[in-house]
Amino acid sequence: MGKSLFKNEVAYVKPYVPGKPIEELKRELGIEEIEKLASNENPLGPSPKAIEAIRREAANIHIYPEANSTELKIKLSEKYALPIENIVIGNGGEELLKMIAETFINPGDEAIMANPSFDKYSSEVCFMGGVAVKIPLKNYKHDFETFVERINEKTKLIFVCNPNNPTGNIMPKEDLDYLVKNTPEDVVIVLDEAYYDYAIKNPEYPESLDILKQRPNTIILRTFSKVAGIAAVRVGYLLTTKEIADAMNKIKLTFSVNRLAQAAAIAALEDQEHLDKTVELNYKSLGLMEKYFQEKNFEYIKPNANFVFVNVNEDSRIVFQGLLKKGVIIRPGYLWGWDSWLRVSTGTMEQTEKFIKRLDEVLKEI
Ligand SMILES: *Cc1c(COP(=O)(O)O)cnc(C)c1O
Repeated sequence: MGKSLFKNEVAYVKPYVPGKPIEELKRELGIEEIEKLASNENPLGPSPKAIEAIRREAANIHIYPEANSTELKIKLSEKYALPIENIVIGNGGEELLKMIAETFINPGDEAIMANPSFDKYSSEVCFMGGVAVKIPLKNYKHDFETFVERINEKTKLIFVCNPNNPTGNIMPKEDLDYLVKNTPEDVVIVLDEAYYDYAIKNPEYPESLDILKQRPNTIILRTFSKVAGIAAVRVGYLLTTKEIADAMNKIKLTFSVNRLAQAAAIAALEDQEHLDKTVELNYKSLGLMEKYFQEKNFEYIKPNANFVFVNVNEDSRIVFQGLLKKGVIIRPGYLWGWDSWLRVSTGTMEQTEKFIKRLDEVLKEI
């Protein structure tokens, strides 16, 4: 038997299916007006302060970025009253999830997560030779009782996607407390809070910094890609213990967070007005969609992020294609094995109205 060209795990990893890019659909359809409600981006665009910061920083891109993102860490450290030694900055949440798997997973180690949830947890764990233990949602929520039952000697990580992607709902404080209480100290709990600023509008949303203070082996993940609207420049961060941050910073690519990203993130942190406007628009857009779903008697999951998961009772492949032809990109539920569901990001009010109108047409045409 000849040796294999690739590392074994390359064969198992499923390629990530990104939302369809606007540019691609424009080329395919030859139409100009396309609404992309597929990747949970900020419909208001980036913070104007972030754009200005990037313009200023552009003159310095011949100089390597600051490897430790110290200025950004200082800003985050002030915001969260946490030492800078407890922070890890990465090239988006995605790089941080990869680094988490690299830092903790030996071949055969296990990581527990919900299904469906953010695909990166399982793909990165599997790539390191670990085992993704996927627990189906129960009543659309993470089934923490089963999570706890499945913990064993090999369990290294537990991923909690809160709010969950693609379902959009939160795990309330009470539920998370149960998980924390019943998880051994030497298992790292990763709280993915990519949609934090939307979710805190819900009074039941847990205060994860309190959990970190009481339970050291905890990692909180947040990103500038969603509410801050700078998904393209790639920056996210972890709040954790000094011990974990030191280990992760050791394996980090030295310059993965570029100058423009650092500058834009610092500026975005200072733009509370843009954040407030974004969150306000989000709940207005959700309100409009929820009203339509209620009129149609469609089952949907009460959202606490910038997208909603809805059952339109038709094959999501067909609905997805129908909407594409009308210039609206959404995410079809079959990607997660929920064939008649759609995940739709919030948009401007005009985009939201257009989505509702086009969906209504598509469903009548089927
Ligand atoms: C968007 C998202 C992330 C991170 O996205 P980045 O753009 O890589 O920062 C992480 N987790 C979830 C659940 C997400 O939806």
